[in-house]
Amino acid sequence: MLITDLRSDTVTKPTPEMLQAMFAAPVGDDVYGEDPTINVLEEKAAAMFGMEAGLFCPSGTMTNQIAIKVHTQPLTEVICDVSAHIYQYEGGGISFNSGASMALVHGVRGKMTPAQVEAHVRPLDNVHFPETKLVALENTCNRGGGNYYTLEEIAAIAEVCQRHSLALHLDGARVFNALVASGDDAKAYGSYFDSISVCLSKGLGAPVGSVLLGSKEFIKRSRRVRKVLGGGMRQAGYLAAACIYALDNNVERLQEDHRKAREIEQVLLQQDYVEDVFSVETNIVIFRLNDRYTDAAFVEALAKEGIKAVSFGPQMVRFVTHLDISEEMLQHTLKTLKTLSKQEVSV
Ligand SMILES: *Cc1c(COP(=O)(O)O)cnc(C)c1O
Repeated sequence: MLITDLRSDTVTKPTPEMLQAMFAAPVGDDVYGEDPTINVLEEKAAAMFGMEAGLFCPSGTMTNQIAIKVHTQPLTEVICDVSAHIYQYEGGGISFNSGASMALVHGVRGKMTPAQVEAHVRPLDNVHFPETKLVALENTCNRGGGNYYTLEEIAAIAEVCQRHSLALHLDGARVFNALVASGDDAKAYGSYFDSISVCLSKGLGAPVGSVLLGSKEFIKRSRRVRKVLGGGMRQAGYLAAACIYALDNNVERLQEDHRKAREIEQVLLQQDYVEDVFSVETNIVIFRLNDRYTDAAFVEALAKEGIKAVSFGPQMVRFVTHLDISEEMLQHTLKTLKTLSKQEVSV
C-alpha cells in the first residue's frame, strides 16, 4: 500500500544526492572547532540571516533552550504566545534549564501584536514582579497552522523590545517556509533578532540538525551551554553536510509543499465533515471536524487508506506537506478526503 505520511515535515528521509554529499564530507572534532563541514554550515547559515556566527546543534529544542538560557537568568521572564513550541513542546525545559518564568500572550493563531507584547512587559523597580528579559517569536507558527509574521510585523515587535531593552529570539523551525511564502529577505532578520534558531530537519529534509545564530559573543556563550547539555558532537560534519545540501537545494522547492497544502485545503472546504479550516499560508493544514467524526475516528479512517495524520486536539486534525509527499500521494489524499464525505459513519 502507498503510505502517505502527513504527520510532520520531520519524517523526510535523505535522498541519494544528500547521502552522497554526506559521504563526501571532510570531518574533524567539532568540540575542538575542527570540523570543516560544520564550520562551513555555521558560517553559511549566519551569513544568510545577516548574523555574525552560528552553532550547529542536534535539535531545534536544544537551539531554543540554549538561546533562552543565554538570554535569561532565574527571576527573569520570557514573553511568548501561549501556543509556542518553547512553552508547549519542550517539556517545560525553560524552568528546568533557565529557571525563568513565562508570560503567556493569547495571540491569534500563535501571533502576538506589538501592543500585546508591550502589555506583558513588567514594570521595573517593583520587587513583586519578575524582570522581563526576552521576547520569543515563532515563524512560522506551528500550532497556528503555519501562518507567519512578515518582516514589517517583526520590525514593529523589535521596536517594542528595543524600547524596553529586551532581547528578541526567533524559533525559526520553519523560517524558510515563512521566507518563501512572504518573499521577505532573510538577511534583514539579522537586524531585528538577537538570536535565531533554524531547523534543517523539518521541511528542508536533512535527517538531523539545527543551527543557532547570533553575535560572536552570544555564540561563544552558547557553545559552553551546548557542551553542558551534552550537545558537543565530534565528527558531526557528516550531518552538517546534509544540512548544507538542504540549504543549497531544498529552499525554493518549499513552494511545492505550500501548493500541495492549499490543494488539500480546497478539498477539505468542500467536505461535509469539516467545520472549518485554518486558512493555509505555508505547509501546514489544521482543520476542525464537525460531529460526523471524532479526531481519533477520522485519523483511523485515513490510516486505513495508508494516510498518516495527527490528532491536534479535540476535533482537530493536522496535515503537514513536505519533500517526501509525491504528486501521486497528494492525489490519493485528495481522493480519500472526498470519499470520506460520502461514507456512512458512526461516531
Ligand atoms: C520542530 C520544532 C522545533 C524543534 O524541534 P526538535 O524536534 O527539537 O528539532 C522547534 N520549534 C518549532 C515551532 C517546531 O515545530
